[in-house]
Amino acid sequence: MTNSLVDTLELNRRRLKASKLLAVFDRDGTLAPITDDPRQAVVPREVRDLLARLAQARGVKAGVLSARSLRRLEGDFGGCNLILAGNYGLEIYIPGHEQFRHPQAERWRPLLVRARDSLAEGLGAQTGAILEDHGFSLCLHWHLTPARMRGVVDGAVGSLARDFPDLRVRCLPTSYEIWPPIDWDKSASLDEIKKICGLDDWLCLFAGDSEGDEPAFRWVNAQGGISIRVGEKGDSAATCRLQSQRQIVELLRDLVALRRPDR
Ligand SMILES: [Mg+2]
Repeated sequence: MTNSLVDTLELNRRRLKASKLLAVFDRDGTLAPITDDPRQAVVPREVRDLLARLAQARGVKAGVLSARSLRRLEGDFGGCNLILAGNYGLEIYIPGHEQFRHPQAERWRPLLVRARDSLAEGLGAQTGAILEDHGFSLCLHWHLTPARMRGVVDGAVGSLARDFPDLRVRCLPTSYEIWPPIDWDKSASLDEIKKICGLDDWLCLFAGDSEGDEPAFRWVNAQGGISIRVGEKGDSAATCRLQSQRQIVELLRDLVALRRPDR
């Protein structure tokens, strides 16, 4: 294989081929295209199939690590033999292992439900904001909110922060995330996966497209692995950069080809 993405990125082909490999990918903006309505963002069939094939290769574990709920990931990737980490990995399904759930996650669920209902009431029906309940976190997307209604959204989030001081509100470029008071990010999730599976000497690869993926890039770098940021926006700790999501498909194809048993 010549001029593959593996070569373009100057990745070590021999190492990728010979190492035991943990390859984990963010979902939205990395595996699935971003859509106006996040509820409509679908993982392309080709991507799903390539991940499933990669997961079948000897000495490879492949997975998806997302802000979405584990249930949603199971809907996307059920039957693919993939590691699935939802809510940034507060809940993790690993084939052949008991499901991991962060010991504090369940405890905060009733408060999140109350916060969700209170937020929905404060927003009303006219703001165009989309409130997603991921189970152990909430996400409020406001990018479809008309400028004249932004004050209503910000006001509702402000009230939420006052009424539920235990919860954490993260302001992202086009959304708010509402989280329980648990110190956790995607790096903690990768660490948990590595511990549960006993992957001490495995090569780790992680690809993502946003600020929420940066802790995972730093973790992977510290492990001597391969970190890949998709898209040209934003500074990143990732050691590789892909211009577009389309290149993730190319990378998956390269990895599948490299890990074929006859090569
Ligand atoms: Mg993403």
